[in-house]
Amino acid sequence: ARIKGVEFVKSSGRARDCPKDDRPEFAILGRSNVGKSSLINALVRKKEIALTSKKPGKTQLINHFLVNKSWYLVDLPGYGFAKASEAAKMDWSSFTKGYFLNRDTLVAVLLLIDASVPPQKIDLDCANWLGRNNIPITFVFTKCDKMKVAKGKRPDENIRDFQEIFRQNYKIHPPWIMTSSVTGTGRDELLLHMSQLRNY
Ligand code: GDP
Repeated sequence: ARIKGVEFVKSSGRARDCPKDDRPEFAILGRSNVGKSSLINALVRKKEIALTSKKPGKTQLINHFLVNKSWYLVDLPGYGFAKASEAAKMDWSSFTKGYFLNRDTLVAVLLLIDASVPPQKIDLDCANWLGRNNIPITFVFTKCDKMKVAKGKRPDENIRDFQEIFRQNYKIHPPWIMTSSVTGTGRDELLLHMSQLRNY
């Protein structure tokens, strides 16, 4: 599961504008500040990739990156901007939902969850929506290197709590991986996981 090359392909505003070449793809999704850019950097070891997605005007688009000339890593707009207007929030959901429901080549959504904080309603809402629509999810817990904060719980406890709540709603257990972009934990496991799903 090595990454030999990554190239930016295009930014799309709608599902129907996405590349049409039938290559398998993984969408990366999460609350803003969850550590998405850091994880993409750690995965592909190419800073310019995540920077491309952070360019003004691109953060609200579907950004396709071609990996090893064979599959796509897709950077989706983050959700949960505290300051976003209600209209902007609705906008996010309708256009991203369109992508999830219409993208036949989507292998799985890598749903990034910050393991350094307790379960967040917005993340559970997102996971529940994906689960309800039978979209395959892999929970990718980020910031697992963070030590217990004052009065807070450890990452493994937050992860257990999150999964417990999710499991109460769905009897399914999506695969999950603990990662840290600081220590590199989980990188190889995540790459291997994606290669297994692609060849499934
Ligand atoms: P994005 O908004 O989801 O793209 O998040 P960023 O990748 O920009 O990260 C948000 C903040 O979290 C930054 O201050 C990062 O340094 C920090 N961060 C990201 N990943 C990790 C991690 O694995 N461990 C720790 N300790 N901090 C992280």
